Amino acid sequence: MHELGLAAAILDRAEAAMRAHSRDRVRRVEVAVGELATVLPDNLAFCFAALAADRPGLSGAHLDVTVRPLAVRCMDCGHEGRPERIETRCPRCGSRHVTIASGQELEIVALEVE
Ligand SMILES: [Zn+2]
Repeated sequence: MHELGLAAAILDRAEAAMRAHSRDRVRRVEVAVGELATVLPDNLAFCFAALAADRPGLSGAHLDVTVRPLAVRCMDCGHEGRPERIETRCPRCGSRHVTIASGQELEIVALEVE
């Protein structure tokens, strides 16, 4: 299951951050996932809670998941925006010469410790 592996990776990073700051408890972790990462936020939160229960300092920590919309950046006109359909085409000029600007990331954006 995709979300289980991600939850474990988030917990590993939260645990490392907790240790790096000499804290012994994480209260809340906020992550942002790109629309293209195809993560189900409820599944991710469920896996996170299940795995956190076995980890000292992390049990009971709350996970907030924000889904970031897909955006493409056009290499021809420089525009960055969300295409109407999931296709790699500039929503302004129609060029197919684009790179994915956001939408496939998973990132810890905030961590609350005590
Ligand atoms: Zn364009």
